[in-house]
Amino acid sequence: MSFSASVLTLYPEMFPGALGLSLAGRALEGGIWSLEAIQIRDFATDRHRTVDDTPAGGGAGMVMRADVLARAIDHASPEGDARPRLLMSPRGKPLTQARVRELAAGPGAVILCGRFEGVDQRVIDARGLEEISIGDFILSGGEPAALVLLDAVVRLLPGVMGNAVSGEEESFENGLLEHPHYTRPQEFEGREIPEVLISGNHKKIAAWRRAESERLTAERRPDLLAAAQPLAK
Ligand code: SAH
Repeated sequence: MSFSASVLTLYPEMFPGALGLSLAGRALEGGIWSLEAIQIRDFATDRHRTVDDTPAGGGAGMVMRADVLARAIDHASPEGDARPRLLMSPRGKPLTQARVRELAAGPGAVILCGRFEGVDQRVIDARGLEEISIGDFILSGGEPAALVLLDAVVRLLPGVMGNAVSGEEESFENGLLEHPHYTRPQEFEGREIPEVLISGNHKKIAAWRRAESERLTAERRPDLLAAAQPLAK
């Protein structure tokens, strides 16, 4: 069974977007995953197809209505659907490669994209939505975040990446940032490829890469090192 994504959005035209090209696009055409973009507005009941209203308690902006969203979610994800229900949200748990791997190993995902100030808390609670953030910044809507999440998941699906090994050596997969890369030409504007990489000595190369990974991680992301080696202190 292939990975199935249902995205609830006010802008279904944004999908598959960037995911229709390159690796993800080929995998989509090849049926390795499927994507359905559902227009939330179709689940409004009034003449103006209203999906939002003013915030209770006052303040700026608009809030997406719980009743409209619940109908959209129930349509996309009827009872018995094993797929997790995700809400893209800056208040969510930051997305990690570990969560991406879990999602890729599962049946798919139902993804709700917020707009305006966000969504009524009651639909988050009532439908058990898992809030996921893609970083500590604010987007204008959940759609780019959903595209980011799906891109990260789809490339891990079996048969998507040409060289499956490369997925396991990347940044975060072992709790470290990846070592630097080099390719021909041997000399670029007076800069040489590090000697060890053209030595042909695979043991030395592996040791150099590991050392560079650790150096870069310590320099740029000491938080990752602390999490990766809780016993090393
Ligand atoms: N008022 C909200 C921000 C709303 S931004 C707040 O201060 O928390 C509008 C929508 O964009 C959100 O509902 C969410 O779906 C999406 N969004 C914005 N930033 C995001 C992020 N960093 N990660 C995931 N989704 C995000």
